[in-house]
Amino acid sequence: MSELNLVLLGPPGSGKGTQGERLNDDLRLPYYATGDILRGAVRDETELGKSAKAFMDAGDLVPDEVIVGVIAERIDSEEARDGFILDGFPRTTPQAEALDAKLAELGREVTTVLLIDVSDDEVVRRLGGRRTCEAEGHVYHVEFNPPKQEGVCDIDGSPLIVRDDDKPEVIRKRLATYHEKTEPLVSYYDGKGILRRVDGARDPAEVTEELRGILDAARS
Ligand code: AMP
Repeated sequence: MSELNLVLLGPPGSGKGTQGERLNDDLRLPYYATGDILRGAVRDETELGKSAKAFMDAGDLVPDEVIVGVIAERIDSEEARDGFILDGFPRTTPQAEALDAKLAELGREVTTVLLIDVSDDEVVRRLGGRRTCEAEGHVYHVEFNPPKQEGVCDIDGSPLIVRDDDKPEVIRKRLATYHEKTEPLVSYYDGKGILRRVDGARDPAEVTEELRGILDAARS
């Protein structure tokens, strides 16, 4: 089976996290979600967390130089030798270029980019109802994917919270940031012939099936 260096692309709330967790179960590749990594760093009050917190709370991106090193280190690790799944990185053209440069150093490249496409209206509806597990970042939705017991994570029993950046005014800011900074990556990867676009406004199980089909074909 060939190496799979996978990037998940899409607006906030497109389901990258949910799909990433499922693909992670299937593919058994390390899954690096920069939002989760940064929230963990904020929680642990590390240097990384301290430099990221104000940007995150405002719905802005953290500076490229803060995040690029975090991902470069993981990609270079033994566990990522056969591939990896990136969720939330790259988010700017300089980040995409830095990723390409790091992989080129290792004689590798991004093999597949999955764009999960969802409209702005749908994003606002979804993120407004999103609840996140305080301990591990497992994701639920009050309407579409409720936990068995309200306010409690099914997986680890910790409380479910509304992330600061899932508050309505911050959601709008994050969407604007996505269109301005991250959407140019669609043509960046399309130009390399490795972008696959899926309609993310469907039942999550259908989206998962389509993604699995694309990845099976890409890996065989
Ligand atoms: P997410 O959970 O992926 O929506 O990320 C939450 C927040 O973390 C974002 O709104 C950014 O402030 C920050 N963040 C995550 N990934 C990146 C990245 N690749 N570049 C810059 N900021 C990021």
